[in-house]
Amino acid sequence: MGGFLPYILLVMLPSIAITGWAAWRVRSTYARWSKVDSGIDLSAFDFARRLLDRQGLTDVKIEPVPGQLTDHYDPRGKVLRVSSAVAGRQQLGSYDPTDRSVGFPQGSGTLSVAAAAVIAHEVGHALQDREHDPWMAVRQTIVPAAQLGSGLAPWLIIAGVWFSILQLAWIGLIFFGAAVIFTFVTLPVEIGASGKALAFVGSLGITGERQVGAREVLKAAAWTYVAAALAALLTFLYYLMLILGRRD
Ligand SMILES: [Zn+2]
Repeated sequence: MGGFLPYILLVMLPSIAITGWAAWRVRSTYARWSKVDSGIDLSAFDFARRLLDRQGLTDVKIEPVPGQLTDHYDPRGKVLRVSSAVAGRQQLGSYDPTDRSVGFPQGSGTLSVAAAAVIAHEVGHALQDREHDPWMAVRQTIVPAAQLGSGLAPWLIIAGVWFSILQLAWIGLIFFGAAVIFTFVTLPVEIGASGKALAFVGSLGITGERQVGAREVLKAAAWTYVAAALAALLTFLYYLMLILGRRD
């Protein structure tokens, strides 16, 4: 079975190239605009809180999360998690139960264009959640199948092809298909959140060059999801090829 070389040439190398390019692009774009002041004189926490409150999302909590580009909105816990890279260069503070802004540097310096764009994007997700965005709902529904699909499915497919148990391989492919659909359903959710973010950024008075910068950061982030979807699709097509091309 000569399945390994085509796998490297048709799937692994293109996937690494696409996702590597997207990751490099988002990091370099983020780095460039994290040095540019947004002109908003608020800490990351205060900015997130103000944006959420303005949208009537007063019940959404804000928490710090370690790392860079780890910012996300958790629809189950209704929590917006802001990365330490976005929150500021300072170390996360010690826990104080009376301080709602625990872990966030207070009034320390201003917000960068990159940080403002990322926070606005996450608030966009919180808004999608409240509006019961259909893509977000679909995405949440296929999470279990998608998780099974990306974890177990490749093994089912390989075992099915190897031992010529085709039903097993096809079941694996269906589950892997769910994982692929998940990566594609993620696209309208992410692009939708960035659309909302740009509207926030505009209404907050981030204009001109800075608005261009915010758009660049959001666009670069969106490309990482496009890259992930393409890589998943390539893998799916390879598995399909493997099943159809098996020798009995
Ligand atoms: Zn997002």
